[in-house]
Amino acid sequence: MPEPLINLLSLDEPQMGALVRSLGWPSYRARQILRWLYRHRVRDIEKMTDLSLHDRTTLAAIATVQRSSCRTVLSSQDGTRKLLLTLADGMAVESVLIPDEDRLTLCVSTQVGCLLDCTFCLTGTLGLRRSLKTHEIIDQVLTAYEHVEKADQQITNLVFMGMGEPLANYEALEAAIMIITNKSWGLGWSPRRLVVSTAGLASRLEKVAALGVNIAISLNATTEAQRQLLMPAASRIASLQSLLMTCRHVSTLARRRVTFEYVLLAGINDQPADAQRLIALLQHLPCKVNLIPFNEFPGSRFRRPPDTDVLRFQTLLRQGGLDVFVRKSRGQDVLSACGQLGNLSTAVATTPLVLTASESRC
Ligand code: SF4
Repeated sequence: MPEPLINLLSLDEPQMGALVRSLGWPSYRARQILRWLYRHRVRDIEKMTDLSLHDRTTLAAIATVQRSSCRTVLSSQDGTRKLLLTLADGMAVESVLIPDEDRLTLCVSTQVGCLLDCTFCLTGTLGLRRSLKTHEIIDQVLTAYEHVEKADQQITNLVFMGMGEPLANYEALEAAIMIITNKSWGLGWSPRRLVVSTAGLASRLEKVAALGVNIAISLNATTEAQRQLLMPAASRIASLQSLLMTCRHVSTLARRRVTFEYVLLAGINDQPADAQRLIALLQHLPCKVNLIPFNEFPGSRFRRPPDTDVLRFQTLLRQGGLDVFVRKSRGQDVLSACGQLGNLSTAVATTPLVLTASESRC
């Protein structure tokens, strides 16, 4: 049985160094190959033209560049695009491109399904199929690059808010962030243009903040009881009080504001009393609040509040001194809006879908 080929995308810099050493090559070759993979995004060793033909043949005998295949792109009427990637084991993962004025944000997934069980989230209903490997996270970015280049566009922001809880897959997430921000051979992003969103794995917040990225907390509740109802698993991992205490600490340490995401659910957490409690909880915490009117999906038990209630909630928070924004729902017709990711990954479509409107998660 021949040895399976090494996927070059699965190697980090030290592993690539070990590979080139094992071939008797100078150590700078490792960076040359990494540059081909991430700067030039080649899918074929043959295209690494600053390696001699002999070296390319030697490398191709033991290694390959194995990318996921992008099998479906759904386009919403508002310009949001949902990309469905099929992984090597046949599982599928979704990422979303969201245009907004001069910004184009890529929302990346870190798991197939999710370990947590937030009751307002479609991804949560899938359970955890598995965590993504580093190269599967990066592959979503590389695929999105290729997709937007065709339309002569550039991705300006990158958010880890797709399927899964990023901090439950911390090692792969950190390694992916290192590649995305590596200025020598990686994608060269400033960490300031990256956001990692978590449902509240408080013990890992300090570590992720040290990477220089922005942090968003999916809060959604103002009492422990409400959080237990809406985010049962997350509330068992960290209480509301301990989560907010960690946020205070991290924000001081990183000298940066924390973003709190708050999904508004009609009649559940959108009342004036909720707003008053939220103001009290976030007092003296350098932060901003993103309100996300709930994006309904088939079978969801919650309802989206009317715009007047959303506006009332926002006004109350503003009056309480909070910096608060209402996040526009994007891509609802293709289920790419917050809380709506997961439909394609399960019902993997083999025929093109016809869309009338857009779906995603928080
Ligand atoms: S909201 Fe986030 S953490 Fe909660 S179930 Fe959905 S994907 Fe998982």
